[in-house]
Amino acid sequence: MTTQQTTIAPVRIGVVGAAGRMGQHLCALIEAASDLQLAARVVEPGHTGGITLDLLDGQVVDILIDFSTPHAVAPVAAWVVATKVAWVLGTTGLSASDQAAVERAAAVAPVFQASNFSIGIALLTELAARAAQVLGLDADIEIVETHHLHKRDAPSGTALSLAKAVAQARGQNLGEVRRDGRSGLGDERPRGEIGMHAVRMADIVGEHEVLLGWPAERLKLCHDARDRKVFAHGAVRAARYLARQGRGPGLYGMQDLLAP
Ligand code: NAD
Repeated sequence: MTTQQTTIAPVRIGVVGAAGRMGQHLCALIEAASDLQLAARVVEPGHTGGITLDLLDGQVVDILIDFSTPHAVAPVAAWVVATKVAWVLGTTGLSASDQAAVERAAAVAPVFQASNFSIGIALLTELAARAAQVLGLDADIEIVETHHLHKRDAPSGTALSLAKAVAQARGQNLGEVRRDGRSGLGDERPRGEIGMHAVRMADIVGEHEVLLGWPAERLKLCHDARDRKVFAHGAVRAARYLARQGRGPGLYGMQDLLAP
């Protein structure tokens, strides 16, 4: 009797922004995985240690993982449109025209985009939306986020996504019910308001809490990211999701990873 062994070729991955903080975590993770191969490190023009985007045509890659800068989004999107190679996009701060370029790419190739690649945040979002849906306007909801002192934008993009998810789950338009911080003498808290609070201190990677309170009960849902590596792990998971399931063109997100 002979034993047949099938060898699955590793998925060849190109990392855009390979020299950056996220890029370095990603390259290390890919190099340590037996089912993945680091096929290209793409760096900014003028930088060493990799190739620039215009040289990507000469490389064979199955998936591009991009944690770089919004300036790189339009050229990468054009490359994806031309090659139909799958694209995992973590870069944030995209303009409306960058986002339109992402959507054009998603019309012809699989594109997985997330502003937060933490699987824990994806779960928190789903759990918070479920709680908001069950409790409806009976619950007072407050979202508190804490980040390191270098973070300039507030509230965080993730806190805003959480607020949108809970508002949507109970049929509200966030713009009409959002209240950032509270100070001074005001009216009583109106029913249905969603409060948002930003704390900045020390070296905290990212904490998000969704607090839901209703008469005599309080529910606290919270997530604590202790290391930026969580985002790299999520992006690699997304790359495997696109590769292993042979996904067709479309725009995928973290909710797809949680789907049964
Ligand atoms: P970083 O500044 O450390 O790294 C960015 C890298 O991109 C730099 O090395 C820069 O030289 C490089 N770069 C710039 N232009 C380039 C180009 N044209 N081609 C190739 N490389 C180019 O930043 P970071 O902390 O690694 O974050 C990168 C991006 O990822 C940011 O937009 C950040 O907000 C985002 N981010 C997203 C998540 C998420 O979960 N979605 C998590 C962390 C960071």
